[in-house]
Amino acid sequence: MQSFAYVNATSVDKVASLLGRTWDEAQVIAGGTDLVGELKEHLISPKRVVNLKTIPGLSYIRQDAVALRIGALTTIADIESNPIVQKQFAALSQAAMVIASPQIRNVGTIGGNICQRPRCWYYRSEDFPCLKKGGDRCYAVAGINRYHAIFGGGPSYIVHPSDSAPALMALNGRVKIMTSTGPKEVGMDDFFTLPETSVRRENILKPNEIITEIILPNPTPNAKSLYLKVRERQSIDFALVSVAAMLTVVNGVCQEARIVLGGVAPIPWRTPDAETFLRGKKISEAVANSAAEAALEGAKPMRDNAYKVTIAKALVRRAVMALG
Ligand SMILES: Cc1cc2nc3c(=O)[nH]c(=O)nc-3n(C[C@H](O)[C@H](O)[C@H](O)COP(=O)(O)OP(=O)(O)OC[C@H]3O[C@@H](n4cnc5c(N)ncnc54)[C@H](O)[C@@H]3O)c2cc1C
Ligand code: SF4
Repeated sequence: MQSFAYVNATSVDKVASLLGRTWDEAQVIAGGTDLVGELKEHLISPKRVVNLKTIPGLSYIRQDAVALRIGALTTIADIESNPIVQKQFAALSQAAMVIASPQIRNVGTIGGNICQRPRCWYYRSEDFPCLKKGGDRCYAVAGINRYHAIFGGGPSYIVHPSDSAPALMALNGRVKIMTSTGPKEVGMDDFFTLPETSVRRENILKPNEIITEIILPNPTPNAKSLYLKVRERQSIDFALVSVAAMLTVVNGVCQEARIVLGGVAPIPWRTPDAETFLRGKKISEAVANSAAEAALEGAKPMRDNAYKVTIAKALVRRAVMALG
């Protein structure tokens, strides 16, 4: 690991001045479960690491009449065990429950979870100077691509590794960001960026910006949500494919739907065709099947990952039937 200065931030207002104009200058650390690995593997070598954990008051879960607010430093374990999240925001609590291991959930934060870097094995090995590290090619195209994208790929084919991100998007979440000129809010739908926009980053954050809060609107009456994840091992494993869904169903008829796939694209992948198809339909197995077909319309599997299409269809089907 290359040496770096370690700075303890003390307030959200001053954090921008501790960060830099480029990612090489400074990076923030929260729980460190991802960042420390990146430093050790020489994937990044910032001059400064800015510790957010010394900023007081960024770990909380509060609900008011309008929304649930989760501080960026709230641990995954605290989210998993929160009774309001369990009861009203099931997709998030179920996603939290299947992230990594209890040890990592005790330390890892929600801000770090949605900003964690890709797990592509070429990216994680310092031997492969791929596009995401400033190199000239994506090794996954001709290489082993069984864990890569079936939607939204090119020129990089990563999949977004976070379990919480699809859930937050299905729950119509917003992200509060501290910028150098003050706070701003963006919808989860607009937070993540495809490689065609910025091949080296996965979201809109600038080097001197941090997430301070996640905001989830309180669910409307009759809205229910869930998170389903398929992985190779039942513990400490990233999603091969996952689905987060929130459906509002009245007398068996779907009024509103948000369905987001994880593990299939460089960003949590909304499925607008399936959502539109479901609105106004009485939920049945045939409808769930058609929604699954619509969700996977346009998928472009690579050589080794067509199996993801089959799994994703099964998950969408199960999610619709479970929430209908
Ligand atoms: C063995 C293993 C298995 C895992 N399995 C899963 C899994 O199944 N599902 C899953 O979702 N995740 C998984 N993870 C990832 C893990 O959940 C994340 O590493 C963790 O949530 C990151 O949180 P952190 O606070 O430790 O972030 P850090 O490691 O501190 O930071 C991660 C990244 O986010 C940035 N960052 C952190 N906080 C902020 C903020 N507030 N604003 C802006 N940028 C920020 C950092 O600069 C860094 O780039 C796994 C990790 C490991 C090591
Ligand atoms: S998928 Fe992205 S991270 Fe992986 S080798 Fe290709 S460019 Fe690099």
